[in-house]
Amino acid sequence: MIKLKVIGSSSKGNGYALVAESEILLLECGCPFNDIKKAIDWQILKISGCLLTHGHADHSKNTKDFLKAGIPVYTNEETKQAVREIPGAQFYSVPEFKSVHIGGFKCIPFYVPHNGTSCYAWLIEHPEMGRLLFATDYEYIPYNFQKQKIQHFLIEANYQEQFIDKDIPNYEHKLLGHASLETCIGAIKANQSPNLRSVIMCHLGGGSSSGKYFINEMQKVTGRNVNVACAVPGLVVEVNKDPF
Ligand SMILES: [Zn+2]
Ligand SMILES: [Zn+2]
Repeated sequence: MIKLKVIGSSSKGNGYALVAESEILLLECGCPFNDIKKAIDWQILKISGCLLTHGHADHSKNTKDFLKAGIPVYTNEETKQAVREIPGAQFYSVPEFKSVHIGGFKCIPFYVPHNGTSCYAWLIEHPEMGRLLFATDYEYIPYNFQKQKIQHFLIEANYQEQFIDKDIPNYEHKLLGHASLETCIGAIKANQSPNLRSVIMCHLGGGSSSGKYFINEMQKVTGRNVNVACAVPGLVVEVNKDPF
């Protein structure tokens, strides 16, 4: 059995843990490492590594604490340069499309457009989980993964297009480079296969108030047999390969 645990999923700080029987893969360094430890019941020795998408503070601000704790962190070269190295740390850049094996997790990164910032999305595979696509802080997904028959998506749905006032002063800063609910639904439609089991929408901008609407709209596309949820701190979702 493998579980996705949400520690944080907003511009305040992002952090997730994929907890398998014998190992844990962390996603993002945007939450305090202490919060991560608590969420994984202090099973620090089970952590195989951490994937980092990009250098914005809400994803990367605690990277040094992760590295100091001996957690290997994997990202792209640009992010590695931006977050300055600490000597002897296990901080790795992975070339685009090159798979890296982190314990039993096979992880393949690819760039997504994020308003000029180098940002990776990750295709993650594990024998207990199947495939999970993790994409956050993206304008759109530049590739199609329908042939990969993805079981799970952890995917940003930041805002609704109809509620956006493009004249607000921080429009560019806040929303450009982020996926709307409509974009997210389009990505699920384009990549849907009979294997789809769960869609967890993350990095919601409007707080939990819009969550129900987001879930309803997504469920119209996925049907009732797919587990649809919004990532809020404390959420735990089983992300198994097979239904039973
Ligand atoms: Zn972000
Ligand atoms: Zn960002």
